[in-house]
Amino acid sequence: GLTAGIVGLPNVGKSTLFNAITKAGAESANYPFCTIEPNVGIVEVPDERLKTLTGLVKPKRTVPTVFEFTDIAGIVKGASKGEGLGNKFLSHIRQVDAICQVVRCFADENITHVAGKVDPLADIETINLELILADLETVDKRIDRVGKMAKQKDKDAMFEYEILARLKETFEAGKAARTLSFTEEEMKVVKQLHLLTIKPMLYVANVGEEDVANPDDNPFVQQVREFARNDHAEVIVVCAKVEEEIAQLDDEEKELFLQELGIEQSGLDQLIRAAYSLLGLATFFTAGEQEVRAWTFRKGMKAPQCAGIIHSDFERGFIRAETVSYDDLVAAGSMAAAREAGKVRLEGKDYEVQDGDIIYFRFNV
Ligand code: GDP
Repeated sequence: GLTAGIVGLPNVGKSTLFNAITKAGAESANYPFCTIEPNVGIVEVPDERLKTLTGLVKPKRTVPTVFEFTDIAGIVKGASKGEGLGNKFLSHIRQVDAICQVVRCFADENITHVAGKVDPLADIETINLELILADLETVDKRIDRVGKMAKQKDKDAMFEYEILARLKETFEAGKAARTLSFTEEEMKVVKQLHLLTIKPMLYVANVGEEDVANPDDNPFVQQVREFARNDHAEVIVVCAKVEEEIAQLDDEEKELFLQELGIEQSGLDQLIRAAYSLLGLATFFTAGEQEVRAWTFRKGMKAPQCAGIIHSDFERGFIRAETVSYDDLVAAGSMAAAREAGKVRLEGKDYEVQDGDIIYFRFNV
């Protein structure tokens, strides 16, 4: 599955956040296919629609879909020079599909800051520089190879060379590859480079308890937001310490605690939703008497592929997908009523599944 890696300088709150993730963790009984490694945290994707569907269908059980975070610990500074753990750090980042960079925005005199003071932009720069330097090295190596062929007027080499030159210039200006725009054709070439700075980035501004209700009063949060805009990255605000507490509460207690804090959604829930959409993921549902269940798919997937997420037999023997949109089903009030109102469509193999679709797959065995 797709995973988002959690990175950050020492003492910014990574472990605290990762603890919150594992404590809030999904019940593994429902997800026997997930092998849980110590640095992987699997969380349920919060989705109000699942509650509503459960209310409508009244199934025996309800199963949310899950999302995986990977804790990428390890040193950061000097990583691109390949010193010991540094190499390992970068190779871990290479394996994740998106990066969640925890940034310290809380002031606490008792907790040492590695750079001596709270300065989120300097922290971001420290980490990003290592990623950019690693990418620059990748591109330089490739330029060595492709450059000669480009000089001999090899068409493909010339095409690639132009892209490499543009990337090099960007890295030398201290910017990430994701700040460039590429055509589909160019993107195919870029993908083969396995760059680190092309991955979607989410800055997780870790604020103190006092800022939870009004995080934008914290000037550091403002700075991070401003930076992220130019970095083609996203920002969410959490208080890792508070999230660790919330993660231990049951649903009812959680609701009350959030009210007390004056927020609607926990920081962790926002983080999960943000990482999920950053990866281009969406949710379809199956809804029967036995089970109402949410499933993760990649936007753009066709109906048979989505059937295959449930079971490979469903994809192989796919006939059609009986589909109703979430809004139509809720408006109709029941599956039977939606059917009567003609809202249940028979979709074929070319149908692009939409976020919120409730699907019943028909297939041959
Ligand atoms: P890591 O080195 O990035 O994994 O950082 P830790 O999660 O170990 O956190 C470092 C210290 O900062 C710990 O003492 C945490 O309790 C504290 N800390 C983490 N998040 C917060 C926060 O949101 N507010 C405050 N006040 N302290 C925090």
